[in-house]
Amino acid sequence: MQIARSGCLAIPQFQWYNLVLQPRGICIEATNTAKFGSGASRSWLEETALEQQFQELKTRLAEIDDLQAANALLTWDQATYMPAGGAAARSRQLSTIARLAHEKATAPALGRLLETLRPYEESLDYDTDEAGLVRVARRTFERLVNVPSDFVARLNGHAAQSYEAWTRARPANDFAAVQPMLETTLELSRQLADFFPGYDHIADPLIAFADYGMQARTVQALFADLREQLVPIAQEIFARPTADASCLQQAFPIDRQQAFGEHVIKQLGYDFSRGRQDTTHHPFMIKFSLGDVRITTRFNEHDLGDGLFSTIHESGHAMYEQGVSSALEATPLADGTSSGVHESQSRLWENIVGRSRDFWEAFYPQLQATFLDQLGNVTLDTFYRAINRVAPSLIRVDADEVTYNLHVMMRFDFELDLLEGRLTVRDLPEAWRERCKADLGIAPADDRDGVLQDVHWFAGSIGGAFQGYAIGNILSAQFFAAATQERPDILADVRRGDFGVLRDWLTRNIYRHGSKFTAAEITERATGRPLSIEPYIAYLRAKYGELYAL
Ligand code: ZN
Repeated sequence: MQIARSGCLAIPQFQWYNLVLQPRGICIEATNTAKFGSGASRSWLEETALEQQFQELKTRLAEIDDLQAANALLTWDQATYMPAGGAAARSRQLSTIARLAHEKATAPALGRLLETLRPYEESLDYDTDEAGLVRVARRTFERLVNVPSDFVARLNGHAAQSYEAWTRARPANDFAAVQPMLETTLELSRQLADFFPGYDHIADPLIAFADYGMQARTVQALFADLREQLVPIAQEIFARPTADASCLQQAFPIDRQQAFGEHVIKQLGYDFSRGRQDTTHHPFMIKFSLGDVRITTRFNEHDLGDGLFSTIHESGHAMYEQGVSSALEATPLADGTSSGVHESQSRLWENIVGRSRDFWEAFYPQLQATFLDQLGNVTLDTFYRAINRVAPSLIRVDADEVTYNLHVMMRFDFELDLLEGRLTVRDLPEAWRERCKADLGIAPADDRDGVLQDVHWFAGSIGGAFQGYAIGNILSAQFFAAATQERPDILADVRRGDFGVLRDWLTRNIYRHGSKFTAAEITERATGRPLSIEPYIAYLRAKYGELYAL
């Protein structure tokens, strides 16, 4: 998960805050005034006026960004160190700051300024940071201005309370305790969508917050294609003997798990001088500035994979944010561009790199040395098969690469059903069990491992919260295929524990651009084609074909 914007996209937990208050900060880089004159025969006075207006835009966006960063810090604190007694006041504080930020983000003067700067934007090359800033700031303004500030405050306050209730309800397996709150969340989600009249599907405005350019029907078509390819692969694997993962289920002291995880992500490129890691209920990444991009994780003493792959996952989100060009600092461009692209970065590092044989050729001897008693007699091959074991499972975040997307599709369908009124919140736990049974052949014994397992709906919206995870899986393979096609030496590097060339490719093609380009633009520019499931299916067929002799 991510929090900075869309989620893990980042972050379901702070979705209202993230999605509704998207604009961030100010560009502190001195403007290249020479660019103001390009393409137009404006007088010196006109150019000076435009320059002043552009500076005013950056100043206004910076103030919004500061409020948003303050809200993010309160959110991070709530999810890590805040005592339970702070919950009520924290809900109010988040609500107040969200309202203030929203008022600034929708101020009529900001709208007028963006209109005044339209000729300036049109005189610039589309790819420049300045044109991108005006373009993205206008798109955000036009979206946010539809939503009243009071509603934003209510939404953020409700999300904070609901999150707090969920942290108690899940361990207690008490869906009834959060059901009324979830009903309110559904109602607020519908109201939010209705601020954007003219949609084809009620989920469309909510999906657009996280994955701009996608709609319910495009996601449904994509998922239908994916399901058609994925289910036969899963069934072929299920027909084979299940891999033995018992080597991962021993007692692994948590302090050593944490130290090893931090060692790994340092090698991958997560910069601890511009970040830190803490523990929480539901791992996430959150950014306060390009110089402070934090991650959280959780550890299970009896499951080595849980903490390790969560840590790598969140570091993938964080490296994306840490890799944004410093020229974009504190502007609305200084975030990952969409939930799907963000998730592609976490999944690329977690799965395509972090669960590859090449990667563990470099790191397994170090892992064995760290856990000599537990893994000293476990071969690399046994370990590799264990971390890539494919089997029906109940928990999305623990699911293998092959079945993971089925968990996402189920949640996406539930969101549409709830928003459309075909399913009630009351009936959701039972619907969850039935769908698990139908898709995976197993059903959770309780709600803790069923409908209560994900934080998203209990701390954000219903609608748009999950599709990014599957889009991210698809894109992770598409990006990695493009990177290795251009630089085939990446694979040999990974085998040596060297990730510089891969990170440079990702920085050049994805990270540094932040939100300047849309997900569709980034995909086309980086890979030469639109979003496609082919590289992902080819990746799964090659990897699991070898592992399971398909
Ligand atoms: Zn994530």
